[in-house]
Amino acid sequence: MLNGKYALVTGSTSGIGLATARALAGEGAHIILNGFGDAKQIAKLRKDMAEEFGVKVAFSDADMSRSDHIDLMFEQLSESIPQIDILVNNVGIQHTAPIDEFPVEKWDAILAINLSSSFHTMRHVIPGMRERKWGRIINIASTHGLVASVNKSAYVAAKHGIIGLTKVAALELAESGVTCNAICPGWVRTPLVEKQIEARAKAKGMEIEEAARDLLMEKQPTGRFIKPEDIGGMAVFLTSPHAAGVTGSVYVLDGGWTAQ
Ligand code: NAD
Repeated sequence: MLNGKYALVTGSTSGIGLATARALAGEGAHIILNGFGDAKQIAKLRKDMAEEFGVKVAFSDADMSRSDHIDLMFEQLSESIPQIDILVNNVGIQHTAPIDEFPVEKWDAILAINLSSSFHTMRHVIPGMRERKWGRIINIASTHGLVASVNKSAYVAAKHGIIGLTKVAALELAESGVTCNAICPGWVRTPLVEKQIEARAKAKGMEIEEAARDLLMEKQPTGRFIKPEDIGGMAVFLTSPHAAGVTGSVYVLDGGWTAQ
């Protein structure tokens, strides 16, 4: 379905980003991975994905907290990639603390990575998408783009922000053939969440699996983690012809979290 299209997925060396990149590659899209990690492991990831799906897999280690790195990434990509047809703004980090104890540098980093990076990537890809009259922008928000939790001020503010940005882009691009939508996952068991499970286990004197269950049951009525592949599946739907008329929408995959 996506043969010949190029998809950039930010923060895609692990978790939801990696699963989404794999899902798009499975549909035939060439992939640009981005993120941090061990160079050998990333090289293997690229090779395996390229072989498994028969697509090209490029990589950029641009730091999404830095607009100058993002500018440079696009400059470098323009030398080897004809265009970006699909942009998945996935990169995200977390830090938890009450507002009055929240480290200022963590606030700045979360806002830069979880929100501003999407503005920067979007301003780079929109002109080309508009010109070609086709483009798909998918922003990975969170249930925390819709509701709040204690101790997550920066994350919740950034995720509410990205939903706002999604809606503005959808309106600005409404007649252009370019869509922009957001996906809001509930708990997905990735390295980002594993850290929170470990912190809970430590704070409550629990075993890891007990803490994972405790974390889930506090918010997610199904009591099951959402699979990273399911976010990938939703992203594939949003790139499909069936979703051509879908824009400015928010898709929630949260095991009933926000139904409460
Ligand atoms: P993860 O920690 O598994 O992956 C994060 C990725 O971002 C990694 O590839 C990492 O290398 C990369 N990264 C981190 N900082 C970076 C930076 N400054 N520049 C470039 N790359 C950077 O996280 P995840 O759980 O897969 O989260 C992905 C997205 O999904 C995030 O936006 C997160 O907020 C969102 N989300 C996650 C959950 C969940 O339960 N895991 C729920 C809702 C939303």
